[in-house]
Amino acid sequence: MSSSILDTDISFLRGVGPAKAQLMKADLSISTFGDLLYLFPFRYVDRSKINTINEIRSDDHFYQIIGTVVGMQTIGVGRGMRLNVSVQDRSGSIDLVWFQGIKWIKALLKPGDSYLIFGKPSSFNGKYSIVHPDIEVANEQSITLSTGLQPVYSSTEKLKSKGLDSRGLARLMRTLFEEIASRIEEIIPDDILQQYRLLPRAHAFWNIHFPQNNYLLDQARRRLKFEELLLVQLDLLKLKLKRTGLGVGHAFPVVGEMFNKCYSEVLPFGLTNAQKKVIREIRKDLYGQKQMNRLLQGDVGSGKTIVSFLVMLIAIDNGFQACLMAPTEILAQQHYVSIKKLADQLDLSIALITGSVPQSARKPILASLESGELKILIGTHALLEEVVKFNNLGIAVIDEQHRFGVQQRASLWSKNSIPPHILVMTATPIPRTLAMTLYGDLDVSIIDELPPGRKPIQTRHFKDAQRLIVFHFMKTQIALGRQVYVVYPLIDESETLDLKHLTEGFEAISREFPLPDFAISMVHGQLKPAEKEYEMARFKKGETQIMVATTVIEVGVDVPNASVMVIENAERFGLSQLHQLRGRVGRGADQSFCLLMTADKISPDAKSRIETMVRTNNGFEIAEADLEIRGPGDLSGTRQSGMIELKMANLLTDGPILEAARNKAFEILTQDPELKLPVNSGLKERLERLSPDRKDWSRVS
Ligand code: ADP
Ligand code: MG
Repeated sequence: MSSSILDTDISFLRGVGPAKAQLMKADLSISTFGDLLYLFPFRYVDRSKINTINEIRSDDHFYQIIGTVVGMQTIGVGRGMRLNVSVQDRSGSIDLVWFQGIKWIKALLKPGDSYLIFGKPSSFNGKYSIVHPDIEVANEQSITLSTGLQPVYSSTEKLKSKGLDSRGLARLMRTLFEEIASRIEEIIPDDILQQYRLLPRAHAFWNIHFPQNNYLLDQARRRLKFEELLLVQLDLLKLKLKRTGLGVGHAFPVVGEMFNKCYSEVLPFGLTNAQKKVIREIRKDLYGQKQMNRLLQGDVGSGKTIVSFLVMLIAIDNGFQACLMAPTEILAQQHYVSIKKLADQLDLSIALITGSVPQSARKPILASLESGELKILIGTHALLEEVVKFNNLGIAVIDEQHRFGVQQRASLWSKNSIPPHILVMTATPIPRTLAMTLYGDLDVSIIDELPPGRKPIQTRHFKDAQRLIVFHFMKTQIALGRQVYVVYPLIDESETLDLKHLTEGFEAISREFPLPDFAISMVHGQLKPAEKEYEMARFKKGETQIMVATTVIEVGVDVPNASVMVIENAERFGLSQLHQLRGRVGRGADQSFCLLMTADKISPDAKSRIETMVRTNNGFEIAEADLEIRGPGDLSGTRQSGMIELKMANLLTDGPILEAARNKAFEILTQDPELKLPVNSGLKERLERLSPDRKDWSRVS
């Protein structure tokens, strides 16, 4: 990587020096010229218009005038002192007023000189004045520099005290441009610039900081967004092409006995068309020599588990082993139970490994895994431990992907000399644009249909004051033979507080639903795995009618007879979590209900989440709404995705630019996979700069 003037330490910029440099580093993470260049304004003040004084007719917006000082007067003493400065232009006159910094202003202003003045007028007795305006000597330079759209940078109190308020930063930015303007090199090839009519790079940077007008500001933004998204897509697609181009992967040419037998004799139901479609897509991957890395998205209850089982059977039919990794003990356990039912009918050996499986029980499992006798291993991240050695792992299925970190997934790869095929399943649907970016290197399959006969879950909102109605409703459902979940939020910071809420809730419900007519289970994070399992099993068998729990039951738990989900303090949950929880009911043929309990007063955001839940059952719609309410920044997954950070583009609103950038990235890499051509050298260098020590993530997600 060649060094560049943009790597120059910020303390070498005129007007900075060591003290300011240190502060800029601490408060703004700016340590080089390049960092400063990328400090984008967060808004602009429109100073493009210069008014005459007689145009000042309102006190609700800002005016900019050029006026000559015709009088100055200090009024009052001590704290009550103020400075009145009269200025005039050809159209009239107005008073400027200062209560602070009087000495400094008096020294600055000279009667007879002209000043550029910007501020918001206030009116008193029908007469306008401007309090504490921005003011500077009017000359050719100040009129070009200070008019137009003015950048506003975010600053901190400390920076402000050192003169680095927004204006101070703008001043530094100008100095920076004096140093580097001619050295900002284009990195996007010419033909692309022309095709999309993109501003040249240097021009775009100048106009993002000092836009001449709104049009140029828009163009600068568009150019920089395109560049950013092009780099992101190049980054992701490069990894993907590398992976698919390598030809390392087990080929599974056979659809054999196990798959066919399961399909025709064992499955208790016919697959939905969507399930068939994704199995075909996966089959195609497995048939060839390329390693599969596929994301399987499907709303809660869409039947991903059975798809993953059939896919595992393909591996087994071809002489390989398969594993399934789940994020929690409960979920792993449940997968084990439901898959074992099918596997037993096929005479397939299957085992479960979790943190709570004792060493003595593990030994034989590990031995038969290594000998190849054991065909299917289900587990939590305990699967990743080094002692877990496969004979020949053909496919690894990862359920509920967002719970696992990238690193954990990485270790699955090393479980075989030829990396296994990877199928990642997630029930957190994400909008297409986001999927394209986050999983740009993965292939995506979507199950967009629920098994037949499901009645859409009815969702209602209740306030605490209406609790009796909710209890009554629970009783009628239980009388019909149904079961009920009551879920309490889990706050990370305070496990003990959660437990208190939960226990209180449990007691209240126990009073309302007393023995011997009712039996209640309780599950929370502080129970031992065996205790959890015991309670879950009781509920599943129908021995208890109510399950009081924290969000430990959020993922995957499957009790078809449960038809009511009561979510306490629903205002404290995020949308995707609410959707996941709701997905625990509606799994059987009965009409199911989700009751969202909230405090009487809730925040507007919470209200909008609850309304979304009441309005729709569609996971994709909910994901879109979630993005709108929260913004894409803190969606689960973004941070751990290892994606290049976006400073300008917005994944929610910049879909069309993203799509164009993705197409171009694909074209570029088709012609020049390693970015070796001179025309692509700028892109290559910028990519290396943005992700210098990028691991080969395509191999792991
Ligand atoms: P998820 O996609 O949320 O993991 P599951 O795989 O747990 O969903 O499936 C939810 C329920 O639907 C399970 O009880 C499963 O047996 C059932 N199921 C899956 N596919 C079908 C189908 N094609 N027809 C009927 N029921 C199905
Ligand atoms: Mg599932």
